Amino acid sequence: KKKIAIMTSGGDSPGMNGVVRACVRMAIHMGCDAYCVYEGYEGLVQGGDLIRKMEWHDVRGWLSEGGTLIGTARCMAFYERPGRLAAAKNMVLHGIDALIICGGDGSLTGADRFRAEWPSLLEELVSTGVFKPEQIQPFMHLNIVGLVGSIDNDLSGTDATIGCYSALARICYAVDLIEATAQSHSRAFVVEVMGRHCGWLALMAGVATGADFIFIPEKPREDNWRQEMCSIVEEHRKIGKRKTIVIIAEGALDKQGGKITPTMVKDLLADKNGLGLDTRITTLGHVQRGGTAVAYDRMLATLQGVEAVKAVLEATPETKTCFIAITENKIIRKPLMEAVLDTKQVATAIESQDFEKAMGLRDAEFAE
Ligand code: ADP
Repeated sequence: KKKIAIMTSGGDSPGMNGVVRACVRMAIHMGCDAYCVYEGYEGLVQGGDLIRKMEWHDVRGWLSEGGTLIGTARCMAFYERPGRLAAAKNMVLHGIDALIICGGDGSLTGADRFRAEWPSLLEELVSTGVFKPEQIQPFMHLNIVGLVGSIDNDLSGTDATIGCYSALARICYAVDLIEATAQSHSRAFVVEVMGRHCGWLALMAGVATGADFIFIPEKPREDNWRQEMCSIVEEHRKIGKRKTIVIIAEGALDKQGGKITPTMVKDLLADKNGLGLDTRITTLGHVQRGGTAVAYDRMLATLQGVEAVKAVLEATPETKTCFIAITENKIIRKPLMEAVLDTKQVATAIESQDFEKAMGLRDAEFAE
């Protein structure tokens, strides 16, 4: 019987449990044994009971649970070859040569590296006497498929990552709650949301809550952003708006690459010589990750989980490592490393203050 393992890695996101449920059940449906690797790559490196066989009923009720019930971790050992060697050994010991990984671009990079190295890792396990050649014979090819779990919607090549719509819904809910007091006291709120290199959450939350002003990393504000923001807020107040909401991504920058912080925005809105608004900062933080997955993420997790099992069973040594994307509402397989490299390019462009390039890359993504 073919053995397929599923793991979650990197930052958790709502919908990861839906992925595990879909993969476990689809694997069983396809006549395979399903395994879960607990604690991300740490589970592969340590092996033992962190790699567990799963039955149909083991994932009952998981679709609506937040976070990841099989755990996730950052694993330093997996960055180094000895860590990946231990992981290969544990996989062979369990008879597993097909792996589905749900995580962000870091986890998917690690996965691709692992697959590329697999033959040489097996060779080393034979040459050092850990296994006999006949023991590794059935495991010569490692099949890996990626699923993108991230609240930031920060991976190129897919319209939505698993978890991003849940985080967006949570932000909107939080802003709705804040609005009551903002409205009552005529207050201004500066709401900080997650997104270091990707402003999707801030941008979409701005649209969905009718925010007065937003800050995102990819499109830094002009040097006169202070005047621009104040005059817009003033305009809105003049036409009778009693509340002000400014949404700022954690990676917000100005044109010089300087960080724009919630405190800077707050001080400006509160400045007695300017607008003089009663202004508060709300940092949503990990609240954005919490709670159950919204319907869209449950749907995405299920459809993509099913496709991932099909892909891992159909993969051959000749096919490139793929990940499962959603593009124009279609669940499709795409080459993994191209998407990871495109994603890194955007982050590098932002870090080196080449914002035109960053925006160009984002536009190209949407035009795709
Ligand atoms: P995310 O998947 O959310 O981007 P990280 O970047 O922290 O999160 O990656 C999660 C884990 O994936 C790391 O702790 C490490 O074990 C593994 N990983 C990430 N990048 C690599 C890499 N270049 N080589 C090997 N393993 C990696």
